[in-house]
Amino acid sequence: MVVSMNSVHGKAAAREELGAGSLAGIAAMAEREQFGLKPLWREPMAKHTSVRVGGPAELLIRVRSCDGLKALALEAYKQDLPFRVIGDGTNLIAAQAGIRSLVIRNHGGKRKLCDDGISIWTDAGCSLISTARWTADLGLSGLEGAATIPGTIGGAVVNNAGAYGWTAADSVSRVRVVDRHGERWMTSDELRYGYRTSSIKENPGCAVVLGAELRMVRGDADRILATITERLQTRHRTQPTAPSSGSVFRNPPGHSAWKLIDAAGMRGRKRGGAHVSEMHTNFIINGGAATAADVAGLIEEIEEAVKSRLHVTLRREVEFFGDWGI
Ligand SMILES: Cc1cc2nc3c(=O)[nH]c(=O)nc-3n(C[C@H](O)[C@H](O)[C@H](O)COP(=O)(O)OP(=O)(O)OC[C@H]3O[C@@H](n4cnc5c(N)ncnc54)[C@H](O)[C@@H]3O)c2cc1C
Repeated sequence: MVVSMNSVHGKAAAREELGAGSLAGIAAMAEREQFGLKPLWREPMAKHTSVRVGGPAELLIRVRSCDGLKALALEAYKQDLPFRVIGDGTNLIAAQAGIRSLVIRNHGGKRKLCDDGISIWTDAGCSLISTARWTADLGLSGLEGAATIPGTIGGAVVNNAGAYGWTAADSVSRVRVVDRHGERWMTSDELRYGYRTSSIKENPGCAVVLGAELRMVRGDADRILATITERLQTRHRTQPTAPSSGSVFRNPPGHSAWKLIDAAGMRGRKRGGAHVSEMHTNFIINGGAATAADVAGLIEEIEEAVKSRLHVTLRREVEFFGDWGI
C-alpha cells in the first residue's frame, strides 16, 4: 500500500534512537510544572483523532495553556527530541503502528480583545467554533465561516482551514510561534498560505503556533449569530456527524471532490469498518470498528477509481501522521 506520510520533525524517530531518558525527562517536567493533564505513555491516537483510528503515541502530553505549550516545545527543541503538536486531531489519520515519539496535544487557552478594540488574540489551543461564537457575541464580524469548522485555532492557522468562502488566511494578521531559535512573530506573508496549506504545514515541526492575532470588523451581533446558526443548520443537513476527518480530498480546480467520488461509483463503498458516507461522499466514516489501514485503503481505492474512470488526480486534504512503514 502506498500512502503519503508526514513524519515527526527531524531525524527518523525510531524508539531506540529517542532515548527513553529524554522522554521520561520531559514527561516529568510536564507533571512537575502541571502544564495540563497527566502525561500518557503508549496512548492510542484513536482517542485523540476525530476519525478514531490509530495506534499508540510513545508519549502523549496534554497541555491546557499557551505557557505550557511554549515551555514543552522549547524543552523538546533544546533536547533535539522529535515531537509534533496536534490540536483536536480533526484532520489527522494516525498510523496503526503509532507515533514513535512525543505528541503534544494542545487544547485550551485564553483569548482577549486587543487594545485597538477590534482585533483579537487567541491562544492556539482555543476552539475555532467557540472563538467564532465569542466574537459574534462581541459584535465582531469575520469568523462566521469559521463557526462550523471543528478543531483548534492552531490547527486552523496551520491548515488554512476554510468554509463558506472564508479561509484562516483572511483573518490572520500575525502568529506567535516558537521554533528551535526561540519565540517570534510570523506574518501572514511568511505563512505562505495556499489552499488548505501554509509554510508550517509543508514543513511539519518547523514551528509551534502559540496563538494568533486575528483581524475583525464591527458588525451587528444578532445578524452575525443568525448567519452562524444558518450555516450550522446547513452543515447538519449536508454533512454526517459520525466519526470522520471531514473532507478527505481537496477540490481539484473546476471540480467538486464529492461529485467525482460519486461519479466514480464509490458512494457507500466499504472497507473493513470504514465506508464512504452516503450523505457526503468526500467523508469516510468510521462505523465503529475501522482501523487506520481500512481508512487508508479506502482512500487509495477512491484515488484509483477517480483516476482510472474520470482521469482526475485527487489531492488529499487529510494528513497521514506517524509510522506508516514506508
Ligand atoms: C466533521 C468535520 C468537518 C470539517 N470541516 C472542515 C471545513 O469545513 N473546512 C476545513 O478547512 N476543515 C474542515 N475539517 C478539518 C479540520 O477540522 C480542520 O483542518 C481543522 O482546522 C484542524 O484543526 P485541529 O485542531 O483538529 O488540527 P489537527 O488535526 O490536530 O492538526 C492539523 C495540523 O496542524 C498542526 N498543528 C495543530 N496545532 C498546532 C500548533 N499549535 N502548532 C503547530 N502545528 C499545529 C498539526 O501538527 C497538523 O499538522 C473538518 C473536520 C471534521 C472532522
